[in-house]
Amino acid sequence: MILSSQKSRSNWAVIVAAGSGTRLGGDSPKQFIRLADRELLSFSVDTFLNHPAIDHVVIVTTAAFLYLVRKSYPACTVVVGGETRQESSANGVAACQTDAAKILIHDAARPFVTPQTISECLAALDENDAAAPVIPTKDTIVKQEGSTWRQLDRSQLRAMQTPQGFRAEVIRSAHATGVIGTDEIGLVLVSNPQAKIHLFEGDLDNFKITTPQDLELATLVLARRQTN
Ligand code: C5P
Repeated sequence: MILSSQKSRSNWAVIVAAGSGTRLGGDSPKQFIRLADRELLSFSVDTFLNHPAIDHVVIVTTAAFLYLVRKSYPACTVVVGGETRQESSANGVAACQTDAAKILIHDAARPFVTPQTISECLAALDENDAAAPVIPTKDTIVKQEGSTWRQLDRSQLRAMQTPQGFRAEVIRSAHATGVIGTDEIGLVLVSNPQAKIHLFEGDLDNFKITTPQDLELATLVLARRQTN
């Protein structure tokens, strides 16, 4: 249950950008590559900063980029991440003030998050402990079991996107358990099975840029958005 006093508490976004992934080629981690004439990280940071219901944005980056990121994003709190995405998100959550009511954690590598997705995530947290967008899987998924394969029921599978939103106390307690998850919803599912989690339909444009092909697709999405 959400207490009425939480209405005056603040909503925070944590953008995790401390990965060292260079699968896209080049020397920089992917969050700092250019998409058109802009740094990838700036797309999601601007969308969260411009959202009327987001009060503060925390960027989690690597120690090597701390100075540069602080200089480029003076409106944000900037902290150093960890070896794993979970350590990075925990550092970001720790940087959110104690008056935080809702915390949304987002991958810097997803530049096309929309204000609508952010609003839906925040609204769902009025009634739920956690919320996130998901996408139905287009492909058949098979699972290796020893030397054989089993086909999973595609109608029951969803791919998680971000932002993943939480009531602040829920994500803080989940991090404190020391359980390891591939993302924060996974962490809450394992550490707090009683948590009320709302998954809603995501947006195909909100994909994560990982490969050179994803970057090509992102260039097309950007061109389409600029002409619409
Ligand atoms: O590596 P992957 O694509 O799953 O990373 C998802 C997001 O998590 C990226 O925005 C990346 O910068 C961030 N990350 C992080 N700290 C790590 C690893 C990944 O902030 N140690």
